[in-house]
Amino acid sequence: MALRPVVQYAWHPEILRRKSAPVDHEDGDLPVLVRDLKDTLLQHADGVGLAAPQIGVHKRVIVVRFGANGRTRLGRPVAILNPTILEAGDELPDYDGCLSLPGLYGETVRPHFMRLRGTDERERTVEWTLEGFDAVVVHHEVDHLNGVLFIDRLSSPDKLYTETVAEGVNP
Ligand code: ZN
Repeated sequence: MALRPVVQYAWHPEILRRKSAPVDHEDGDLPVLVRDLKDTLLQHADGVGLAAPQIGVHKRVIVVRFGANGRTRLGRPVAILNPTILEAGDELPDYDGCLSLPGLYGETVRPHFMRLRGTDERERTVEWTLEGFDAVVVHHEVDHLNGVLFIDRLSSPDKLYTETVAEGVNP
């Protein structure tokens, strides 16, 4: 198990703003990268997705945990390499946060329906049809591969919030 520190936007915005390059399965570092992304995501109880640039690697690899819609249990992390969004629609407001911007969340507008193609870690081409928050999560992670962050997608500039402790609740 190898955990990697998650790159924080406050300290290293340039790392998170860089675009990532396609990966190829000849890349000998790929298995370790996928494993580290999964381990690091699992370490964060509130995380449902992580993209390689968030651990400082500019390759087009994301890991996501499906099932954050609340209907089912959160799944084990799934790796998607070179994800391509084939179709996206049903744009709706939703809440968005990011392990690279802890303590911040915002209302963003993202597709709640998506068809996605990529390869899995065994080099098989896979297509996913995603709905609801699963589509939101994947859209957020694909954004990371293009240097885009949720703060760029706020539904309006005043829709950014900081987490505050509710009054009247004992610590
Ligand atoms: Zn993020």
